[in-house]
Amino acid sequence: MTAMNLMLMGLPGAGKGTQAERIVEEFKIPHISTGDIFRAAIKNGTPMGLKAKSFIDKGELVPDEVTNGIVRERLSENDTDSGFLLDGFPRNMTQAQALEKMGNELDKSLLGVINIHVDPASLLERLTGRYICRECGATYHKVFNPTKVEGTCDRCGSHNFYQREDDKPETVKNRLDVNIKMNTPLLAFYREKGLLHEVDGNQDINQVFRDIKGILEKLNK
Ligand SMILES: [Zn+2]
Repeated sequence: MTAMNLMLMGLPGAGKGTQAERIVEEFKIPHISTGDIFRAAIKNGTPMGLKAKSFIDKGELVPDEVTNGIVRERLSENDTDSGFLLDGFPRNMTQAQALEKMGNELDKSLLGVINIHVDPASLLERLTGRYICRECGATYHKVFNPTKVEGTCDRCGSHNFYQREDDKPETVKNRLDVNIKMNTPLLAFYREKGLLHEVDGNQDINQVFRDIKGILEKLNK
């Protein structure tokens, strides 16, 4: 059996979190999300964790070499021997090249990269639709979970709503633009290597997972 060394990509709102959970459950591989391994490395005081902490404590960005080091420490653990799902790493070409190098050294090269593709216009709609009742805090979504009567809170009858800063179109658009810029060279890099598999994320989440599963089962042969 091939080791399921995988990486998952997708823009904010594409449903990466949900699919990551299902993949690791189905294929019994550890979910390696950058946020989690950073927290763990710092908590456990690993050499790279301590380095990362020194930058974070100064309010500075953690340099790529330290991020790469934390991923390397994690991939050196035995529970990744039959596979892993990277999520949130690599984020740039320096990291992608480092991953390729450590993959060769640890004999844990990527088997495939899954990109959950949703067009940015749909993501904008998904991510900016949330609004909140100012009186009782109930949350709604313009498309997916609107109030029963337009402009009236189901729970308390208030007509007073607001949007969080994070959900405002301008903020969301910026976040998407940053991520598109970041992902574009990575997608090209993995496409070039024949590792990239695109999944249509504009479908029902169960269908998205069936598509991913189909791809991974083929890779696993
Ligand atoms: Zn309300």
